[in-house]
Amino acid sequence: DQPVKAMERDKVITCRYTLRENPPDILLTNYKMLDFLLLRPADRDLWRYNTPDTLKYLVVDELHTFDGAQGTDLSCLLRRLKSRLDIPSGHLCCVGTSATLGEKENAPDVLGYAASVFGEPFDADALITEERLSAGEFLENDMAVRFDLPDPGDTNDLDPESFDSPLEYLGRQAFLWFGDEGPRKDGESDDEWRVRLGTLLRGHVFFQNFLKVLGGRPMEYSDLLGRLVKVAPRLGEREDSYGSLVLDSLVSLVSHARKREGERLRPLVTVQVQGWLREMRRMVASVPLRESRPELFFSDDLKADRLSRTLPVIHCRDCGAMGWTSSEDQDDGSVEIRDLKSFYSGFFNKSRKIRYLFPGEAGGEHRGLAGKTRKLCPSCMTLSDVRDGGPCPLCGEPGLVPVFVPDSQYQKTLKDGTVKVLSSNDCPFCGSSRGLSIFGARSTTLSSVMISQTMTSRGNDDKKMLAFSDSVQDAAHHAGFFGARTYRFTLRTAMAKYIADGGEGKTLSEFAAGLPRYWSSKLDGGEYVSTFIAPDQAWRREFARLKETGTLPGGVFLENLSKRLGWEAFTEFGLNSHIGRTLEKSGVAVASPDPAFFAHSAALVLEALRNELPGMAPPEEREVSFFLSGLVQRMKTKGALYHPELEEYIRR
Ligand SMILES: [Zn+2]
Ligand SMILES: [Zn+2]
Repeated sequence: DQPVKAMERDKVITCRYTLRENPPDILLTNYKMLDFLLLRPADRDLWRYNTPDTLKYLVVDELHTFDGAQGTDLSCLLRRLKSRLDIPSGHLCCVGTSATLGEKENAPDVLGYAASVFGEPFDADALITEERLSAGEFLENDMAVRFDLPDPGDTNDLDPESFDSPLEYLGRQAFLWFGDEGPRKDGESDDEWRVRLGTLLRGHVFFQNFLKVLGGRPMEYSDLLGRLVKVAPRLGEREDSYGSLVLDSLVSLVSHARKREGERLRPLVTVQVQGWLREMRRMVASVPLRESRPELFFSDDLKADRLSRTLPVIHCRDCGAMGWTSSEDQDDGSVEIRDLKSFYSGFFNKSRKIRYLFPGEAGGEHRGLAGKTRKLCPSCMTLSDVRDGGPCPLCGEPGLVPVFVPDSQYQKTLKDGTVKVLSSNDCPFCGSSRGLSIFGARSTTLSSVMISQTMTSRGNDDKKMLAFSDSVQDAAHHAGFFGARTYRFTLRTAMAKYIADGGEGKTLSEFAAGLPRYWSSKLDGGEYVSTFIAPDQAWRREFARLKETGTLPGGVFLENLSKRLGWEAFTEFGLNSHIGRTLEKSGVAVASPDPAFFAHSAALVLEALRNELPGMAPPEEREVSFFLSGLVQRMKTKGALYHPELEEYIRR
């Protein structure tokens, strides 16, 4: 886009030269940019008309995001700005805004924080907080006239998953709470219904209790449910999910309900549901003492004595095998981890001392796996070789845990000829190369799962996402990551729908061709393009034009988009079938050879082997089928599937 040089009806000036020539009255910027504006010689002109009392207001949005080092950065920057423009202290009117920070109760902290960021004093009355009605004020004129909880014979009736659309679910819930009065009536407009729903809710004792229990403050879902069970014991009497389904049903109706304020419709009350995730890093699992089961912990949450009875967890990305990992002290067999950090560095450097301990695979050596079963003592954390249920030779603990310890060491000859013993992280069970990795999930991964879950939900009819990052450097990376993930999940959902709606049983190439046809017939042109455009293609001019003016891209663009969609479907079942939450791994669909064709091929192979290996005992039919299916599976996951686009790469 061309930088805008003059103000227009719906445009502000974005041209830097124009801005420098005629400095703006209001400068909208971010703190990195402001830093540049104070540094770059070219930007000096921007400040040339500033006398010490020119700048009057300084507003920092999202003040709460500037904590720690960023807070220090910002406060130094603001002090530099004041010093550069020679602004006397006490002159500037400083404003910080935040939707997260600023309860009346901790006013001194908030004011102190603002004072140190801005370097200006803040009076006690400088904090402006929200004005909210209490539940009592809100319900002042509402009598409780309804008392019954929804009581369907079947909890499916309360489950959003049983309905095809959000409106269908809401209509049914309105009936369950309010009988025939609840659902939208014939001839009633949606707005009228939503306002009436609000009135009905205000007269329900459960809604009234719900507001009172919340007391105008956020509350954790389980706490809220627990408090509601106390006032409505029936909620807790039925099977586990009844209580939460009723609560969800109420919250859904409340979110849909409206009230009339003059001409305008406003939400009955503001509803905000938040999901919080904690990054799963430095995870450990306990080594169970007698009969109990291993439990997963954040190592940061454990005190030293508890931590010493836990070990980090590894899992295989491909087959899901899971166990503990540690490094073994060669002298005394201890696998206690004294310092997680140095363990991790040993793990990533493939130290020969690294051990994998699989409790569920004890006895694996009898199945031909390389390694042996040893005994882990949950009390003194040593590995020993005692047999037949004997106690720990070191501390006498009787409840030893049998674990399969694979032989993971291998030798590597370095450039200078020396031989080094390393520990491999190939999976001992499925052979996946570097398959064993430390169990955990980064916040980006967790959030992308949450995003795709909400983006692909049938209940989401207004898909929008805003991502905040506490690090400027990471923001671009995160945006790309979320974009790619969301695309992948959209694709999988689209494939799953096509499979359920006629795509099942097709050959892979029919499927890859049918998928774009199916969706381009279901969606209008603009929707089709914006749903399925790959993030790495979103820069295309035709797509930008579609977004701005609604002009549909041309035939070649659409053809390429469909080609790409087909290709993505193709790799989802082949090369990428084991990366992430694929259709194959989540048990939705898998590509497999045609059974008749496969049997025929197996018979041909068998015949060839019989003829060409005379004198040798011919393999059994079962063995040949087994081998072939392994081979085909392997070829599939390695991407050895024929696609016309690969023609040029095929060596003959
Ligand atoms: Zn594996
Ligand atoms: Zn012991």
